[in-house]
Amino acid sequence: MSEDGLSEDGLSEDALSEDELAEGALLHGATYLVGYRAMTRLRELTWPEAREALRDRVVLLPVGSVEQHGRHMPLATDHITAERIAFLAEERHPVVIAPTLAYGISPHHRQFWGTCWVRSELFRDFMLDIVRSLKSHGVMRVVVVNGHGGNSAALSEVGQTLRQEGVSLAVYEWWRGIDDEFSRQILGEAAAAITGHACALETSVGLQLFPEWMKPEAAVDVPVGWAPPVHGGQVHFDTVDFTEHGNVGFPTLARREAGVAVVERAVSNLVALVRWIESRPLSELLARPHLG
Ligand SMILES: [Zn+2]
Repeated sequence: MSEDGLSEDGLSEDALSEDELAEGALLHGATYLVGYRAMTRLRELTWPEAREALRDRVVLLPVGSVEQHGRHMPLATDHITAERIAFLAEERHPVVIAPTLAYGISPHHRQFWGTCWVRSELFRDFMLDIVRSLKSHGVMRVVVVNGHGGNSAALSEVGQTLRQEGVSLAVYEWWRGIDDEFSRQILGEAAAAITGHACALETSVGLQLFPEWMKPEAAVDVPVGWAPPVHGGQVHFDTVDFTEHGNVGFPTLARREAGVAVVERAVSNLVALVRWIESRPLSELLARPHLG
């Protein structure tokens, strides 16, 4: 727990009596049982526990990046956002969470100090191997909780490949459930005018999920869109070519309350996706045989 009253998960933590803890009632002020919670995160389990936990559960695999997010957000933004959304989903529905893959595909941020990236082919192969090892333990339904748009194309390839191998891999990205109208509603017209990277939207999410790592006083508004096209063409700018601060949009207009609404939508969408995947026979999630 940090000094500001937040747990290491960035969730507000109600004080628990010894009795509550003894009964295994609540952790982090949330609704999961200690026993259930203890069977949720793969990195905390022994192998006999993993054998039980992995039976019939969807596995969530958070991934992100180690990449600059303007002057006001931490390098961990994308992977920690993915991880914490997964942690919040686990409070509402039984899943297993595999250890987070922090690094992703971010070479376009290379001029900003601290950004680390892997090649897309390495990222793809790494993901394939992780999921193939899960498959060897009987896991056939995986949801990658992806926090970084630069990983999307590679993850889509991974999903297609694994589908042919008998594993259903869905990619969940929190921002896809946030359309323009919802952004305008929760952020206001001006703040929602430009979103993309460490903008008002992502900054609001950071203020909700990891306020202890945020430096909102250092935020700078940058009124340009992400990777602007040139006469309709994409010329593969690096981030530094269109923003020297590293972000776009209006992070000074970010609000924690907006982050609460975004995170709530993100978590409920993720849980709905997991339920949908569970409700389907595996054969419906995999490649069909040839037409007769
Ligand atoms: Zn980001």
